[in-house]
Amino acid sequence: MKKYNFYAGPAILPQEVIQEASQGLLNFNNSGLSIIEISHRSKDFEAVLEEAKQHVKDLLQLDDNYEVLFLQGGASLAFCMIPYNLLNEGETAAYLETGVWAKGAIKEAKLFGNVNVVASSADKNFSYIPKNYTVPAESKYFHITTNNTIYGTELFNYPKASVPIVADMSSDIFSRPVDGKQFAIIYAGAQKNMGAAGTTMVAIRKDILGTVKRKIPTMLDYKVHIEKGSMNNTPCTFAIYVSNLTLRWLKKVGLEKIEQLNKAKADALYHEIENNPLFESVIAKEDRSRMNVTFVIKKKELEEEFINYTKGLGIVGIKGHRSTGGFRASLYNALTIDAVNVLVEGMREFAKKHG
Ligand SMILES: *Cc1c(COP(=O)(O)O)cnc(C)c1O
Repeated sequence: MKKYNFYAGPAILPQEVIQEASQGLLNFNNSGLSIIEISHRSKDFEAVLEEAKQHVKDLLQLDDNYEVLFLQGGASLAFCMIPYNLLNEGETAAYLETGVWAKGAIKEAKLFGNVNVVASSADKNFSYIPKNYTVPAESKYFHITTNNTIYGTELFNYPKASVPIVADMSSDIFSRPVDGKQFAIIYAGAQKNMGAAGTTMVAIRKDILGTVKRKIPTMLDYKVHIEKGSMNNTPCTFAIYVSNLTLRWLKKVGLEKIEQLNKAKADALYHEIENNPLFESVIAKEDRSRMNVTFVIKKKELEEEFINYTKGLGIVGIKGHRSTGGFRASLYNALTIDAVNVLVEGMREFAKKHG
C-alpha cells in the first residue's frame, strides 16, 4: 500500500530522486560502478559536488562572496562550529530563542563567548515568534532558527540587524524563494528538505571569517573546508549525491511554484484544524509553520486511537515530538497535496465517529 510520509526528518524526497538515486547506486552515469564505490577525488564525483554547490548558490541567489560547503556532523555540529569560528572570548553573540534547536545552538555558543538571548518565546512554550526586540550593534553576529521543527513555528519576516545574521534553515530551506545575501551564514542538515541524512550544507560569506584568535582544530575550521572545497577528508558522497538530485528537482520545479504548493498544503491542513471540532492548534496564527504543522486533540484519550486510525489510511510519521506530544505533520517540499487531503479527510471521518 502507498504510504503518505509525514516524518519530520529524515523525511520524504521526490519519488523521481529516489528512483534516480537507486539507479546511481547500481550503475552511476553508466560508469559500471556504484556512486558509493567511486573515489571522492574522481572526476565523476567532483562534478556532482560542484553541481550541487552551484545549485545552492543559484537557489539562494548568492554571489561569489559566498562559498557553499557540504560537511558532516549535522546542524548540531554547526551549532558549535559557528561560535568556534566567529566568537572570541569576551565577545557577545546575539541569539533568538525559539525552540529546542535554538536552545541547542545557544548552549554551544556559551562554550566560546558571551550569549545575549535578545528575545525568547519560552514564556509560552515556544508557541510564537518574538517580534519586538533589538539586536545590539556590538553583537558579533545574530543567530536565528528560521523554522522550529518541533514546535511548528516559522519566521516569515526575517529580522533586520546591523550585524551579520546566521540562520539555521534546516527544516525550511528551499521551501520558498529567499535572498540568501541577507545572511552571513545559512546552514541546514540535508535530511529534512534537501536530501539524505549525512551531510550539512553551509553557505558562508567568506569575509566574516578570520577574526577569532583561538586555535581551531582542522576539521572544525571553516577556512580549511573552504580552501579544500569540502574535500579536506572524505565527504559524505552518497548524501551529497542525493542532495544534488533534489537540488536539480527544485530548480526544475522552481521555488515560486514550490512556495505556492507549500502554501496550498499548509492552508488546507490548518483550515481543517481550525474547523474540525476535535482538533486545535496552540501556535500563534501568524507564526504557524508551513513545514511542520503541529496540532492537538481536545479529547486527549483519543490521541493514540487517532494515530492508529491514520495508520490504516497509510499515513506515517504524524506523532508529535516526544517533548511536545500531540501531532506533527511535516509537509516538506516533496509531499504532495494528495497526501494532505488524505490526512484532512481522515480527520473529518474521525471527528464524525468521535465528535
Ligand atoms: C533537525 C534540526 C537540527 C539538528 O539537525 P542534525 O542534522 O540532526 O544535527 C537543527 N536545527 C533544526 C532547525 C532542525 O530541524
